[in-house]
Amino acid sequence: MSARRLLLLGPPGAGKGTQSERLVKSLAIPQVSTGDMLRAAVKSGTPVGRQAQGFMERGELVPDAVVIGVAEERLSQPDARSGFILDGFPRTAAQAEALDQMLVKLGVTLERCVALQVEEDELVKRLLKRAEIEGRSDDNEETIRTRMRVYREQTQPLIDYYRARGVLREIDGLGTVEAVGERVQGALAS
Ligand code: AMP
Repeated sequence: MSARRLLLLGPPGAGKGTQSERLVKSLAIPQVSTGDMLRAAVKSGTPVGRQAQGFMERGELVPDAVVIGVAEERLSQPDARSGFILDGFPRTAAQAEALDQMLVKLGVTLERCVALQVEEDELVKRLLKRAEIEGRSDDNEETIRTRMRVYREQTQPLIDYYRARGVLREIDGLGTVEAVGERVQGALAS
């Protein structure tokens, strides 16, 4: 049986979004992407969007309180009851602790954290390519460098946090979408 309460962890450009989309289809559970939700909030000019916009444009993290609120609201919705794929949340120790509390309230546990490993040169290459295709305003070289540093300093330590829980599986994120997808499936079944 595949795990259904999942977290995909990895640096920007590692393929979290792409692999999440595959899992949405194969497991029929929602993707919870704080990045997507924040971009939608910025686009429609909500108070959350207005708070987040500057941080996102600079490649910095949006303050924990804002992001935690967004994630909690989404995870509380009925379609997340049978499972969810967290993509891009948590990104800090404080967010990881807040997630633990949310899950206790919801009466569920995180079953797997799959960490996608890709070296930095490859990540920068991928993100610059995505900039050409999708035109995301935070996919420029300076912002990419900031996002990599933020990942190393604030998010990478979460790998140890989830390893200590026994839910971590680390996989190689290099290869075709299908090849990485098979590794993800393997990590969920093991
Ligand atoms: P992503 O699409 O996950 O790469 O997120 C894009 C941007 O949204 C990030 O560079 C941050 O500015 C912001 N963001 C998304 N998720 C989080 C989070 N969990 N904590 C703080 N900021 C976030």
